[in-house]
Amino acid sequence: MDFTGKVAIVTGSGRGIGKAIAMKLAENGATLVINDVGDSAPAEQTVSEIKNLNRQAVAIMADVSSSADVTKMMETAIAAYGKVDILVNNAGITRDQLTMKMTDEEWDKVLAIDLKSVFLCTRAVLRPMLKQRSGRIISMSSVVGIIGNAGQANYAAAKAGIIGFTKTIAKEVASRGITVNAVAPGFIDTPMTQVLPEERKQALMANIPLGYLGTPRDIAETVAFLASEEARYITGQVISVDGGISLGKL
Ligand code: NAP
Repeated sequence: MDFTGKVAIVTGSGRGIGKAIAMKLAENGATLVINDVGDSAPAEQTVSEIKNLNRQAVAIMADVSSSADVTKMMETAIAAYGKVDILVNNAGITRDQLTMKMTDEEWDKVLAIDLKSVFLCTRAVLRPMLKQRSGRIISMSSVVGIIGNAGQANYAAAKAGIIGFTKTIAKEVASRGITVNAVAPGFIDTPMTQVLPEERKQALMANIPLGYLGTPRDIAETVAFLASEEARYITGQVISVDGGISLGKL
């Protein structure tokens, strides 16, 4: 996989899966736009690790659930590097709660950051990608968007929404050489899952046929493949990278 000359934006890439994706794309030659919200230190750290690989990178702080922030981020990215070839919609949060007790705020926040952001960032890159008649859009869904999970109705709705969105945009832009896919990770060892209680982790592990949590790198390898020329004939798909957890139990 060779991304020399390609410009990639990875949202939420200061840490976790997003950082691993950014590093993998950079290792294979891409120029990176690193995005995060809040404290800029993790994003700047990712930028400096990419520069150590002799690749170009810039950090752009933006809340991807804000239309104004996304517009500004894309304008800054285009001003810096002239184009966007690859968009990875990775930023996401959880606010778990049983539905009966879930507040409007918990619902709205997860839908805004996990789903609306995917619409905002995708819409923002479509015009330049349509013009250049090429592009790759990859969004982070989840096994939870496919099989559900008690206590995550907001997250499951957002992650399932990404799947419908992905298939629709794939149809809208296929004639212009742009592919649009989703990746559905299972349980991956990142700050998002490190907060789970140990007994919950053990219970999860018992449901993973491969018997262990995935790593951010496992997800990055699949995202990089989907972003590559080698994957040019794959569009509108959801690729599960989950140790088999979505197979379910008999
Ligand atoms: P993580 O470690 O919590 O990292 C999420 C990143 O997104 C952080 O850098 C965070 O920045 C950033 N972010 C949050 N809100 C943002 C916003 N409004 N605008 C811009 N950036 C924002 O999560 P992860 O585990 O790497 O997950 C990455 C993606 O994979 C998410 O979409 C998640 O739903 C999905 N996923 C994860 C798993 C898993 O097991 N870990 C499984 C399935 C799917 P701050 O640090 O500043 O908050």
